[in-house]
Amino acid sequence: MPNLPVYLDNSATTPVDPRVVEKMLPWLTNRFGNPASSSHAFGREARAAVEAARGQVAQLVNAGAQEIIWTSGATESNNLALKGAAYANAARGRHLVSVQTEHHAVLDTLHELEKNGFAVTLLAPAENGLLDPARFEAALRADTTLASVMMVNNEIGVIQDIAAIGAICRARGILLHVDAAQATGKVAIDVKSLPVDLMSLTAHKTYGPKGIGALYVRKGTPAPAPQMHGGGHERGLRSGTLATHQIVGMGECFRIAGAEMAAEVPRLRGLRDKLRHGLAALDCVRINGDMERRIANNLNISVMLPDCEQMISMLTDVAVSSASACMGGGTSHVLQALHGGKSAPNALRITVGRFNTGEEIDFALDYLTRKISECQARKPAAASV
Ligand SMILES: *Cc1c(COP(=O)(O)O)cnc(C)c1O
Repeated sequence: MPNLPVYLDNSATTPVDPRVVEKMLPWLTNRFGNPASSSHAFGREARAAVEAARGQVAQLVNAGAQEIIWTSGATESNNLALKGAAYANAARGRHLVSVQTEHHAVLDTLHELEKNGFAVTLLAPAENGLLDPARFEAALRADTTLASVMMVNNEIGVIQDIAAIGAICRARGILLHVDAAQATGKVAIDVKSLPVDLMSLTAHKTYGPKGIGALYVRKGTPAPAPQMHGGGHERGLRSGTLATHQIVGMGECFRIAGAEMAAEVPRLRGLRDKLRHGLAALDCVRINGDMERRIANNLNISVMLPDCEQMISMLTDVAVSSASACMGGGTSHVLQALHGGKSAPNALRITVGRFNTGEEIDFALDYLTRKISECQARKPAAASV
């Protein structure tokens, strides 16, 4: 019997890998210097650690170290990329294009820009969650300056065709921002070959600490307008004393992701597929989102029983998400976009991770099957909607 509850919400956040914690600790205690203090050894060793981590983060996405700007996470990176690029390019145009299924850190930032004189087009994906590049191209206008399309969706795990979308942007001189918070360690990312100008990254979805992230800004891209003013850190793009311990943690967790992805992804796929096949065998279970263009650790199902909301909200022995964690359990705007605006009932996002065991997956499958069957048995007349 595994320890309960079993944690299967690794797209909401992950535990920090113990190897990462170990690398972080000295930078909280005796190596506490401010990386901006260049006049003494305390500062200089902290600066060296920050720059080593910058190289590690850059390496995972095949960027140059000078293209990585530290932020507090993907929310801040999205804000800096979108507001920063929208304002920096406002003289050329004020039209922005994105997708209905983006994270709220993108959607709400775009909404804020809309209130400040920008026009925003939000495209609907196909029913499988994927954005059709032709549909994307058709939405572009002469005054479009910036598009934002996430690499991996946080609820349904589908992987957008960033190469095709980026090529369309390139041909028209439109900047492309990509929220890659859910992609690191799950899919190979190579910004040398991907036509992407700005990319948001975060540590805590990839076994690093919360509160640290980065924005990739391609060399030669017009600098985004800073959103945080102060001491001029990060080449003036993001002021604030660098959090050495967090940065070292992000570097280490991205290093591990790069080193172990090839072995980890097939293992996660095996665990996920066990759950997928077991749950899909229940006739009231539907899978949300494309299963082919999808990261290996994500499963998103709808339980098509009208009266099992109770059950879904009271799964005590497995920690899964009933929409996205950021929504606090509200209706999923992602599933709604997939189903033409209709709200999707009783959705469960199950995301396996590095520290899940086969025993945990066996337990979770048995437990979920039992709970769903109990609910089905209670309402035999309403077996589907
Ligand atoms: C988690 C997440 C974010 C927010 O990242 P934070 O580092 O928590 O601010 C943004 N976008 C996506 C797709 C996410 O999954």
